[in-house]
Amino acid sequence: KPLLLADEINLDYKQNFSIGFVALNYTNSQQNQYEYKLHGFNNAWIKAGKEHTAFYTNLDPGTYEFQVRASNNDGVWNYTGRKIKVVVNPPFYRTVYAYIFYIILAAATLLYARYLGIRKLKRKFALEQERVQVAQLLEQERRQTEHLRELDAMKITFLTNLSHEFRTPISLIVGPVDNLMDRIKEPEATSQLTLIKRNGRRLLNLVNQLLDFRKMEEQELKLQPTDGEIVSFIKEVTDSFSDLAERKKINYSFNTKTEAINCSFDPNKMERILFNLISNALKFTSEGGKIDLILSGSEDLSDEEKVWITVQIIDTGIGIPDDTKEQIFENFYQNEVGPKMLNHGTGIGLSIAKEFVRMHGGTIGVESEVGKGSCFTVNLPLLKTADFQVNTIQKSEVSSDSVEIPSKINAATKTINDLPLLLIVEDDDDFRFYLKDSLKNSYRIVEASNGKEGWQKALAGHPDIIVSDVNMPVMDGIELGKKIRSDKRTTHLPLILLTASTQEAEQIRGLESGASDYMNKPFNFAVLNAKIKNLLTLNQTFKDTYTRQIKMIPALVEIESEQTKFMNKVLLYIDKNLNDSQLSVEALSRELTMSRGSLYKKLLELTGLSPVEFIRSVRLEKAAVLLQKSDLNIAQIAYQVGFSTPNYFTKAFKDKYDVTPSDYITLKKANRPVSVPVSL
Ligand code: ADP
Repeated sequence: KPLLLADEINLDYKQNFSIGFVALNYTNSQQNQYEYKLHGFNNAWIKAGKEHTAFYTNLDPGTYEFQVRASNNDGVWNYTGRKIKVVVNPPFYRTVYAYIFYIILAAATLLYARYLGIRKLKRKFALEQERVQVAQLLEQERRQTEHLRELDAMKITFLTNLSHEFRTPISLIVGPVDNLMDRIKEPEATSQLTLIKRNGRRLLNLVNQLLDFRKMEEQELKLQPTDGEIVSFIKEVTDSFSDLAERKKINYSFNTKTEAINCSFDPNKMERILFNLISNALKFTSEGGKIDLILSGSEDLSDEEKVWITVQIIDTGIGIPDDTKEQIFENFYQNEVGPKMLNHGTGIGLSIAKEFVRMHGGTIGVESEVGKGSCFTVNLPLLKTADFQVNTIQKSEVSSDSVEIPSKINAATKTINDLPLLLIVEDDDDFRFYLKDSLKNSYRIVEASNGKEGWQKALAGHPDIIVSDVNMPVMDGIELGKKIRSDKRTTHLPLILLTASTQEAEQIRGLESGASDYMNKPFNFAVLNAKIKNLLTLNQTFKDTYTRQIKMIPALVEIESEQTKFMNKVLLYIDKNLNDSQLSVEALSRELTMSRGSLYKKLLELTGLSPVEFIRSVRLEKAAVLLQKSDLNIAQIAYQVGFSTPNYFTKAFKDKYDVTPSDYITLKKANRPVSVPVSL
């Protein structure tokens, strides 16, 4: 709109402007006076005089009102004047939207700052909490460790006290046994006493090892050297193992290149070093192996006062893998030794030996090849005593106490043939010997040193009962039990398992494997004996049930079970066809409408005998009755019970009853009680 007509003008921010005005008085218009003001910018009238333009610059955004008035040349003012609204628009950043945007931005910034603040606080709090937790955990751990340490210390103290408590009675066993051995020369008693002594010493050694270990942990060990002759001392220690070596059928020898060396050493510790090394060699060498102990002494060239003693223990045992040669000297370290051997022991023997060698200022090392053997070498620098001398033995006269063990096999002596045959399966030689010794008067004994051997002997020896240890190398008692139960030839055999574990789970595992009974070591011998007897009687009763059938009228027998029914049928058929020497298993299986295989299985399961053996057994049983009750001669009886020749009958009779038929008649006539087993 032209300015003249417009009510309002709109200007941009910072748009400078001028407004021109003119009074409508044309009479001497040069004399017109003007006044103007921009309301909102300056509220007072500005006298412009004859000027008729107003200039404005840099106006703030806003709404103004421009007013102007004028007078004519006579000075008469038109006070109404003229007005126009001037609107100066703000720049974009000062618009309402901009302000809303600013407010939103500010609010967002504030919110974000608040969020950051809270996050920071949270983090700080979490960190703080974490720190507190870590501190708490550390404290808890520290307390736990402290507690464990206290518990450990208590356990060690307990173990030490216990060991001390054990040591006295064990010493009181070993000592008097030595005295008894000196006095009693009876071989029977001597073998028992040797057993007590050996095991007493074994216990004593274990207890000593525990005490040594405790002292080593507490650093209480001190060297207590005394002057003495070391060669004879070492020989004496070595000798104490010869009977063990002999029992294990190991060729054990002591060789010395020096006759006598007088020096200063701690005999106690020396004994422990040798004890550990020799018992390890014996433990890890199998039957038929060889252990050599070689002793030599030499002057120390750098120190006149000292003499070097070197002891080598060389075995042909299982050997030690290269990567564990260092570790075996650490506490509690034990190598895997494979299934052929059981690694009894505690794993502290060598660490103690090493510590004792170190205390003497010496060294201990091992060279070994797996499967070939090991050589432990101990070098000790010992102080010479005043009467020191080294007498080197000439090569030809090297003293050797080689104990050659004849490889005589311990055959079970057949004595009283009608005693039940007991198979003892136990890997610990001493314990096996003890079992055998205690049971030998009531049973014939066969021995086996592990499950596998036990299994072979169970098959070959036809024992009446088996007593087996659980923990054994090669094949353990549980596996043996399973094998016995799953094989028809042995499934009827009673089996008693012996174990050192008192855990019920272990017992259940044993019984589930098919053991008839279970005993924890140590046990009362009378109880074991009673259990063996019970099981034998039970087995016998079972077998007798069928044996008796032959003497009864089968029709009268009450039918009790499928098994009895089956056995009755078998017995009835055999009885009917007894004098038929051609009575075959085939015919019997046909009669019973079952295959030969099933008949074989079933009979074996019920009687422990194959069909052929069972038929022969029934024939012989009947023959025994006839020999007792009838006046028929042997040949007649032989034919009557179905033997094709009297000779074969005599042989079979002797095999079963251990007496010939004629002796049997003689005995019967002499009216002496004859122990003819009635079992089948
Ligand atoms: P322990 O005999 O009580 O197990 P040791 O510290 O005496 O403990 O022996 C540690 C391990 O070193 C044994 O478990 C065995 O594996 C191995 N070892 C020691 N001596 C022999 C050896 N003569 N032949 C084979 N292995 C051996």
